[in-house]
Amino acid sequence: MQSDCCIDVADAFAKRFGRAAVAVAVAPGRVNIIGEHTDYNDGFVMPAALDLETRIAFAPRDDGAVRIYSDVVGEEVQFAFESAAREKLPFWALYAWGVGMSLLERGITPSGLDAYVETSVPQGGGLSSSASFEVAVAIACLGDKWTALDKLDLARVARRAENRYVGTQCGIMDQYSIVFGAEGHAVMLDCRSLESRLISFPEAAALVIADTSVRHVLGESGYHERQEECARANSVLSSSLPGVKNLRDVNMPMLEGKKNILGDAVYRRARHVITENARVHEAAAAMTAGDLARLGALMSESHLSLRDDFEVSCRELDVMVESAAGLPGHFGTRMTGGGFGGCTVSLVDKSSAAAFAGALRERYQAAARLQAATTIVRPGGGARLAKPRETGNA
Ligand code: ADP
Ligand code: MG
Repeated sequence: MQSDCCIDVADAFAKRFGRAAVAVAVAPGRVNIIGEHTDYNDGFVMPAALDLETRIAFAPRDDGAVRIYSDVVGEEVQFAFESAAREKLPFWALYAWGVGMSLLERGITPSGLDAYVETSVPQGGGLSSSASFEVAVAIACLGDKWTALDKLDLARVARRAENRYVGTQCGIMDQYSIVFGAEGHAVMLDCRSLESRLISFPEAAALVIADTSVRHVLGESGYHERQEECARANSVLSSSLPGVKNLRDVNMPMLEGKKNILGDAVYRRARHVITENARVHEAAAAMTAGDLARLGALMSESHLSLRDDFEVSCRELDVMVESAAGLPGHFGTRMTGGGFGGCTVSLVDKSSAAAFAGALRERYQAAARLQAATTIVRPGGGARLAKPRETGNA
C-alpha cells in the first residue's frame, strides 16, 4: 500500500517536473489517544502516528529555488527560502517556507527543491496535517542527510516553523509523535523531559476518528483562556507548596488544600490536568495489558473531565460521544484536540470498526442534524525517507 503510493507520487512528480524524483519524504498524521491539555502543563500525553500520510516526491535544485506543488490545494508556488516575501505566499506555502527558515535558524542550509506533495491526512480535522506536512518538508529539505539531525531536533524545527513562521501556537506533541511514532504503537510522552516510550497498541483494536464538522470561534480564545487559568493555578501552587514547579507535581490532596484560594473555575481546571495525567499512566498500563475495556473507560472519563472540569467541549462533541455509547464493539470515546469542535476518537474492536463508524454517522446525523466524516485508523510508522520505487515498507 505505502510502496504503491510512493510510486504514484513519484510518477506524478515526473509528469509535472519532467525529471525523476530522487526520493519520497513520508510523514504520518497523528491522533492523541489520551492526555488532553496536559502538554503545556509539563504533563503526559499518549498520541499515535497514523496510517494516513503526507508524501513528498522531490529532487534537489542547485539554484536554491523551491517549486512546490500540493495536490490537495491544486496549486504550485515558487520561492527561495531567504528572499521570499511572506505576504506574497499563499497561506499553505508558509508551512513549507517556515520549515526552511527554521532550518536556517539552526545553521542548516536547506536544499532548493522541486517537490510534489500529496496527502491522505484530512486537512484541519485535528489529525495534524500541518505537522505532517512540516515534517515531510523538513525531510525533503535535508534529503539523504535527514538522519544527521537528531529526531528531537527535527520535531523542534517543524514546530518552530508553525509557531514562528505560520503563527500558530502549538506544543511539541504533534511533531514529536509524527517523528517518533512506530507502526502498531502509541507514544507515551513526558512533556517535561521530552522522553517517550512506545506502547504496543492491541492488535484487536482500531481507532475511529469522527469529525463533528463544526469549529466554534471560541476555539482560539478559549484555548488561551485555559492556558492562562492553568498558569494561575501553577503560580499559586508553586509559591505555596514546596517542590512544586507546576501542576505536574501536584496530587489531589495537595490541590484540595488550596481549593479556597484558587477559586472554583481554576480549581476545576487544575483538577482536570491532575486527573488526566493519572489517566494517561493508567491508560498506558491498560494498553500494555491489552485491556481494551479499561482503556476505553479511561478515554470516556477523560471526555467527562474535559466537558465538566476543563469546559472545552461543546454540544456537538458531546452528542458524538453520547452517540457512540452502547454501539457494538465500542470501548470508549472522547474529544481529541483543543476542543470547541473538531473530532472525537473512539476505541473499538477492529472487526466492528466499519459498522461502528456507519452507525455513529447515522446517530449523529439524527441527533445533531449534521454530517460526520469518519476515518478508521491504526497506529502507523513514523516519518521516513523512502525510495521512489521502494517495494517494501522502509
Ligand atoms: P490540522 O493540522 O488539524 O489538519 P491545521 O489548521 O493545523 O489543521 O492545518 C491545516 C493547514 O495546513 C491546511 O489548511 C494547509 O494550510 C496546511 N497543510 C496541511 N497539509 C497540507 C498539504 N498537504 N498541502 C498544503 N498545505 C497543507
Ligand atoms: Mg495542525
